[in-house]
Amino acid sequence: MTTVGILGGGQLARMMALAGAPLGLRFLVMDTSAEACAGQFVPMVVGDWRDEAALAEFASRVDVATFDFENVPAESAEWLAARIPVFPAPRALAVAQDRLAEKTLFNELGIGTPAFAAVDTRADLDAAVARIGLPAILKTRRLGYDGKGQFRLKTHAEVDAAWSALGAQAPKVGLILESFVPFEREVSVVAVRGRDGAFRAWPLTENWHRDGILSASMAPAAGADALAPQALSQARRVAEALGYVGVFALELFVREGELLANEMAPRVHNSGHWTIEGAETSQFENHLRAVLGLPLGDTSAVGASVMLNWVGTMPDAGPVLSSAAGHWHDYGKSAREGRKVGHATLRAGDRPALAAALGPVVASLGRREEFAPVLARLAEAG
Ligand code: AMP
Repeated sequence: MTTVGILGGGQLARMMALAGAPLGLRFLVMDTSAEACAGQFVPMVVGDWRDEAALAEFASRVDVATFDFENVPAESAEWLAARIPVFPAPRALAVAQDRLAEKTLFNELGIGTPAFAAVDTRADLDAAVARIGLPAILKTRRLGYDGKGQFRLKTHAEVDAAWSALGAQAPKVGLILESFVPFEREVSVVAVRGRDGAFRAWPLTENWHRDGILSASMAPAAGADALAPQALSQARRVAEALGYVGVFALELFVREGELLANEMAPRVHNSGHWTIEGAETSQFENHLRAVLGLPLGDTSAVGASVMLNWVGTMPDAGPVLSSAAGHWHDYGKSAREGRKVGHATLRAGDRPALAAALGPVVASLGRREEFAPVLARLAEAG
């Protein structure tokens, strides 16, 4: 009996455990909060990431460890990796945790990014604004997610406000200024690399964000045939350069038909949730297969899928449950503004059938406006 340890006990750990049950796996999650939602049905160790006694207990009870949360301190990951197999390796995690390190790596691999500059001081910020120009986004280099730790700068008059908002964090997590990309669309590659170097990617996914948080995903992305080979090759180069093992996501902007890499998430990713019902093998199962050294499963899409994220509160389940295309995921979390509490995936045989199913569901939920860009993309793709 193999026990997989997961650092972080949120919805990603929860969905990983659900995917691992048919493989005969057991799980143990570690989280700083006793309320972490995977703990509702997965055994849990509650402790701070830097608490060696908690880490030691966790290590003694698992055969291999992985992550549902990329901001586990690199030292904690290294402490564990000295004792048990840990995938992805702490070095890969460290690069992906740092927006400056990952963008530098992307450029070294010939992957385009928005222009960027490291910012440690107020003088650096002025120099970065002068070099990169405006509009731009000031972000924390580390520990940011879902649009947190970001300030959008449109005019020079806002430089003071940006520094007031984030300057205090510069000594601890570092800052980066990036040029603001007026993108046409956002896409992501969700991919997996095995312990033997085998590489597979799911079809390119198109994503829509609201307030920096993923709102919806559609896969396979419509009209992306010209972009997909390049995006997949970029993901492969990143994975190979890092000796990466497991699932990861590469988030890309599309501007004037060109790809620009925004960031890499070193874990299963929200833009891959559609793979649970919409692909031969889900991202969660393939992540487990990768970290355990098992053969990777087929990443082909089954029909066409749209995932709708529930942020803040869960809507009424009725419209999704009543739809033949609908699949419901409630993470068992309490409601809180900006918090991902669940999602739904609608999957149908092809895009016209998906459009026919999605329209009535979002109308019944009273959310046509929120998901209008998704409906429009489906309509235009035909
Ligand atoms: P991030 O936390 O970097 O993934 O940013 C969250 C979202 O903010 C992205 O998915 C984009 O929608 C937007 N965003 C982030 N960086 C940029 C940028 N340099 N230009 C335009 N939009 C951005």
